[in-house]
Amino acid sequence: MVQAIAEYVGNLRRGATTIFEGLSVTFSHMMRPPTTTQYPDRTPKPMTDLIPDRYRGFLWVDLDICISCRLCERYCPIDCIVIEDEKIDKLLIESALDGKPTPKIKDPVRFDINLYKCMYCGLCVEPCPTGAIFFTKEFEGSSTDLSDMHMRLVDDTRREQVLAAAAEAERKAAAAKEAKAKAKAAAEAKKASEAQAAPEAETGDGKDAASDGGARAQGGGDAGNGGDGKQDANDG
Ligand code: SF4
Ligand code: SF4
Repeated sequence: MVQAIAEYVGNLRRGATTIFEGLSVTFSHMMRPPTTTQYPDRTPKPMTDLIPDRYRGFLWVDLDICISCRLCERYCPIDCIVIEDEKIDKLLIESALDGKPTPKIKDPVRFDINLYKCMYCGLCVEPCPTGAIFFTKEFEGSSTDLSDMHMRLVDDTRREQVLAAAAEAERKAAAAKEAKAKAKAAAEAKKASEAQAAPEAETGDGKDAASDGGARAQGGGDAGNGGDGKQDANDG
């Protein structure tokens, strides 16, 4: 009986204590300045200034420094990114990560991101060698039309520019290839004519040598005849 009364009193005391603990937190907040943001119409600053720097909002791509390596496309686990590209003349772009010059030999003519599928995991951002793809602080994209969330980053004007650059690069490559083939053919022709001239020269030398030998043989014969003449005179 005594134990039951003690337990009852203990419960009462614990209940009163916890009420005062809870109220002390409430009262302490009554003295602090409010931190609630009256989004969206009464924010003290633009929302992008209120959001932390590492916030993962909508993705964006700086196409000028995208080298179209397609790592982002490959790493996305749910195929949000679709890239098509063209080969262009080699450019050197400056990486946004370390400022180092990086070669760019391809340029996207299509770079789509399906934001309605994206889960903002960041797996596409991590491997990008130039920092071209990154998260922005934009998040206000509510729409009743799903296609509004399908971002097409390469517009028609840029696409045409890239296609023109690609055609020019192809023309230059073809001209260089043709020049190389011509140079090779000329070198081969020169080599062949040199090879043809060499045996002829050798044949000419042999003939001269044979003629010289004949003349020498003739001289020897004359000398022999001279000796015979002397012998004849002696005999006379
Ligand atoms: S990983 Fe970066 S550089 Fe490569 S295609 Fe994607 S955005 Fe472009
Ligand atoms: S954040 Fe994740 S889901 Fe979204 S595009 Fe990048 S890899 Fe894909």
